[in-house]
Amino acid sequence: MKPYALMINGQRVETAQHLEVRNPADGSVVGLMPVATEAELNAAVAAASAAFSAWAATPDEERQALCAKVADIIEAHAEELAQLLTLEQGKPLGGLGSRFELGGAVAWTRATAALSLPVELLQDTPEGRVELHRKPIGVVGSITPWNWPVMIACWHLIPAIRAGNTVVSKPSSLTPLSTIRMVELMNEVLPPGVMNVVTGEGGLGGALAGHAGVGKVVFTGSTPVGKKVMAAAAGTLKRLTLELGGNDAGIVLPGTDPAAIAEGLFWGAFINNGQTCAALKRLYVHESVHDAVCEALVAYAAKIPVGDGRLESSVLGPVQNEKQLALVRELVEDAKAQGGKVLLGGDPGNGPGYFYPVTLISNVDNGVRLVDEEQFGPVLPIIKYASVEEVIGRANASPFGLGGSVWSSDIEAAKTVAKRLECGSVWINKHGAIQPNAPFGGVKQSGVGVEFGVEGLKEFTTIQTLLV
Ligand code: NAD
Repeated sequence: MKPYALMINGQRVETAQHLEVRNPADGSVVGLMPVATEAELNAAVAAASAAFSAWAATPDEERQALCAKVADIIEAHAEELAQLLTLEQGKPLGGLGSRFELGGAVAWTRATAALSLPVELLQDTPEGRVELHRKPIGVVGSITPWNWPVMIACWHLIPAIRAGNTVVSKPSSLTPLSTIRMVELMNEVLPPGVMNVVTGEGGLGGALAGHAGVGKVVFTGSTPVGKKVMAAAAGTLKRLTLELGGNDAGIVLPGTDPAAIAEGLFWGAFINNGQTCAALKRLYVHESVHDAVCEALVAYAAKIPVGDGRLESSVLGPVQNEKQLALVRELVEDAKAQGGKVLLGGDPGNGPGYFYPVTLISNVDNGVRLVDEEQFGPVLPIIKYASVEEVIGRANASPFGLGGSVWSSDIEAAKTVAKRLECGSVWINKHGAIQPNAPFGGVKQSGVGVEFGVEGLKEFTTIQTLLV
């Protein structure tokens, strides 16, 4: 098996050590991830640093055209990347799986390539002229998770280079191969040193977050690790974008037609097997429609085939890793012990691979771990409520604030509730539907800053005010 290599200054760099990357469906080895040393990390930062001035000085239209070419080359290799992604991440090829993720990666890359940040004229009077210029920061360190590795990498890497920065990418060691391959492809288009990738374990992410040669870190992952990144970045006062964990609440208002919302609720919660930052993670349903919503959800969910992602028949795949599977099991067992009623699933079986059935649990409430914590897996707690006023408080009673949703046939009533939810994005009659022109980010402990669109692009710049 040919090992994968780091990509530094446009060159493949073979490392002395490797780690096996395994398919969560059956434990088979997918490929060998390079393990970078500290010297190799330093070389990647030095390459990005050396490439920075020329890249920052490249005419904006040229950088824009090169970013569009990056979209083209990812698109041309989308099937190859999707196959690799399914092998290491586990998600199915079809449906809302790997091909969908590659489609998203290309769409975001194109949309970001098309953005620009022209000089803003703040004042032009006889007293003076004030211009606001946006300048790239320098070397950006990108640290990405294992759930949507390719798409999230594009959310980091493309705005960084579009704005004129250079990059060192550090993907999760659970799903590193698709990002390494994508960065190799990007290097067929970009000048050497603009886009580098390092992988490894044992503190490589922390070393990148604290590296004196890095000017900004963009991190997507869990809240505890996000706090460590923030601490590591403090030494050199790095700019930060942190996209962290969530425990998104959905509220179904009285008078809502269960049949009309069951499919949307299901996919809001179970997209990518629930391993999605802004998935619906706790569902509050008014008592007048509670039983009917439960029945409609069970009827829809029972038909979803879970299996090996390589099979075109699979609609959901395995959980990505052992640690995550253990957490899902633990939270479900705890919910059962607290009186939770298993409406569907709940029994993992003993087969090979990290499979867990689609699971719906009612008769739980705030105070049960499955409701209070981020499960990040294929299980949804359904909570019955009586008063809309009171349920808004329960939805907001969380340290997280990523997304939320309100479900109702009365859009105005839904909007009134939505505006009172403490979260960065709120959807009506859908959940987690992100798009490249809508800024996305968390409040409270779900993050700092936003991604996407012009607002997201601005985060990869600093302001220089020019006063004449
Ligand atoms: P994680 O925090 O365990 O790991 C994320 C990345 O950080 C990985 O590349 C990991 O190797 C690296 N890392 C680990 N320790 C580090 C350290 N001390 N310093 C720097 N980097 C370090 O997260 P995960 O398990 O890969 O992903 C799941 C979590 O990510 C969930 O909480 C989920 O909600 C969150 N997430 C958030 C978003 C969002 O946009 N808000 C998107 C996807 C996932």
